[in-house]
Amino acid sequence: MASISSRCVLCLRVGLPMTREHIFARWLVSRVHGARLVPSTMSTSQPPWSSAPLRISRETAQVCAECNAGWMSGLEVSFRRTIFARPRVGALHAPERTTLSRWFAKTAVLLAHARGSELGAAAHRAEIVSGMPDDLEVFVARHRRPRQHLDFAVELRTDRSADAQRAHSVVVLVDDLVGHVAVHGTLKSRHGTKLWPLRTHALRWENLPVITSLLAG
Ligand SMILES: [Zn+2]
Repeated sequence: MASISSRCVLCLRVGLPMTREHIFARWLVSRVHGARLVPSTMSTSQPPWSSAPLRISRETAQVCAECNAGWMSGLEVSFRRTIFARPRVGALHAPERTTLSRWFAKTAVLLAHARGSELGAAAHRAEIVSGMPDDLEVFVARHRRPRQHLDFAVELRTDRSADAQRAHSVVVLVDDLVGHVAVHGTLKSRHGTKLWPLRTHALRWENLPVITSLLAG
């Protein structure tokens, strides 16, 4: 399905051919046996107008065909290799941290958008095309015993009068890896360890903090 009337959520360009894509790629849904899963924290991630939970695998977003076939496709390959190609032990090097940060960020932005909200400033949004939006931070942790291996929650701001269209943060679980994405200064140590912006000291898979619930208090 293609249309040319909309603005791409990610690169913010208009007038390009658009495609409606699944936010979680088919390979990933298959890999984590997620075809029938719904978000575990319905109260924060369910749109108010919806009565039946939407399957995670059916979440879609409209992005331009150039983003979809270009950097998003490459990022998906890099993400898959980073978290599934080998056991998650040893150092998390800068390229891997960047791949994880960008994948969690683009996924978070699309999930927030699908909930009728926005994560981060539009002025920085298109930076995801070649790197990371300058206003976002990403924390990661491992989930001790997740009941499902694909999950997410969009935490909306409680102060609706101030900024109704802003998401507070978005958390995404893939396998046992949890990524929290929010604007700088939002996340706390209970959300994990800082993955982005890049830090100079070493980060190791086996040393990632362990959390026991997706929203982590
Ligand atoms: Zn685009």
